[in-house]
Amino acid sequence: MTATPAWPAPVPPTYPAMDVVGRAARLREGLEEVGCEALLVNRLVNTRYLTGFTGSAGILVVTRDELVLVTDGRYRDQAEEQLAAAGVEAAKVEIGQTAAEQQELLTTATAGIGRLGLEAAHVSWSAQRRYAEDWFPDAELVATEGLVERLRQHKDTGELARLAAAAALADSALATVRPRLGEGPTEAEIALELDSEVRRLGADGASFETIVASGPNAAKPHARPGGRRIEEGDLVVIDFGALVEGYHSDMTRTTIIGSPSPTQQRMLDVVAASQAAGVAAVVAGTGCVDVDHACRGVIDDAGWEAAFLHGTGHGVGLDIHEDPRVGRSSTANLEVGHVVTVEPGVYLPEHGGVRIEDTVVVTATGSRLLTHAPKEPNLP
Ligand code: ZN
Ligand code: ZN
Repeated sequence: MTATPAWPAPVPPTYPAMDVVGRAARLREGLEEVGCEALLVNRLVNTRYLTGFTGSAGILVVTRDELVLVTDGRYRDQAEEQLAAAGVEAAKVEIGQTAAEQQELLTTATAGIGRLGLEAAHVSWSAQRRYAEDWFPDAELVATEGLVERLRQHKDTGELARLAAAAALADSALATVRPRLGEGPTEAEIALELDSEVRRLGADGASFETIVASGPNAAKPHARPGGRRIEEGDLVVIDFGALVEGYHSDMTRTTIIGSPSPTQQRMLDVVAASQAAGVAAVVAGTGCVDVDHACRGVIDDAGWEAAFLHGTGHGVGLDIHEDPRVGRSSTANLEVGHVVTVEPGVYLPEHGGVRIEDTVVVTATGSRLLTHAPKEPNLP
């Protein structure tokens, strides 16, 4: 007898194209504003955004009229293929087998550049000294902040499709695995099942280390899943996501095993109301701080201001946590095309924890949820 294959036939889904080419043009506008003729992109996820290249090493130079990606021999073919697939035709791939060769290629690519922007948040002190002394001695190095990250906040149709697909995979995985919570599994077993299920459904992997936190562990917002068995009376916080073509999903649901205590019931009700208030506040033009305020107000009114231990949310995209941040000290306003999470929580060591998180797209008419798993805390 042959076993039925557990894996579906690999039919890779196709998503709407992303406007990768247009990104460098928008970046050049930002470079103009800070008076730089070129940007040295050290952060790989930003290089991916600008070129489609997914390798683990490489430095990109964006000048006024070209893109030069300097990487090593491992990525000779992959880099050419990925840039072509992304439609980035005005880009050159240069292969340096040694650090010295790569340095020479970068020095050549920036020849004649007066003001060269560096991604200040992503260049180490030693790299900065090397760049100033040896690599680019003729250029004035300029510390820039978030030039690419700012562009990445606005998701295009292709990016939204990938984020929606990742969120849908996580919804399906949770629907499959959640009923098992009542069978006394360990946290680690549930985490493993979720991770396997998102991959089986076609995700490239989990979008971050899956959180399954039960009982007293649920009172720690970022507990790691361990050997604790989930039992009657536990609140179980599950926070996880799927990864699709580099795009992350992020969702939290809380389940009560059996009947909640009166305090647990109140925690569930307060967090649900807080989260709904936060999602309702997600509208273009609103300050991220106001979304935070909407969530926090409900929790404060319940007397649990000290039990909400983290920010309200964050942008999601090629990074699991990216701009705009949604918190008490946020200064950004929401704009159409932003994708943010809304994830208030209440954590009480004696009772456990409750967090509910959705990922929300800001649209021209309001907002749209990407995460659709039911929020009902009781197992059927
Ligand atoms: Zn999360
Ligand atoms: Zn999150």
